[in-house]
Amino acid sequence: MSSDSLRGSRLGTQSQEKTTGISYSPRQNVKYVCPKGHTSEMIFSAEAEIPHTWQCKQCPETATTDAVEAPAQIVGHVTKTHLDQLLERRSRDELEEILAEALADLKKRRAAAAKAS
Ligand SMILES: [Zn+2]
Repeated sequence: MSSDSLRGSRLGTQSQEKTTGISYSPRQNVKYVCPKGHTSEMIFSAEAEIPHTWQCKQCPETATTDAVEAPAQIVGHVTKTHLDQLLERRSRDELEEILAEALADLKKRRAAAAKAS
């Protein structure tokens, strides 16, 4: 056996494979949130069993996946619809008025378009 055939096959040597075209094994990013609100993102193999808790990277608290899995349960966070947001800024009466104005304007423009044609 020539010494050439062993080149690149010894332990500890760099892989001879090209870095392009490598298919990484599927992985998943898992976010952990600690009671202080720090977010730690860990990458696990897709087959790995994801631990429910993880040591926070920024403080001594234990971070969990809870807040990420159920974002609606975060205190004070309620999913709002567009209508909810609109009603926070304007009263019903104001909205009725705006709607009436918009409809009147639309009618005017339609009438003008009808005349033009
Ligand atoms: Zn923390």
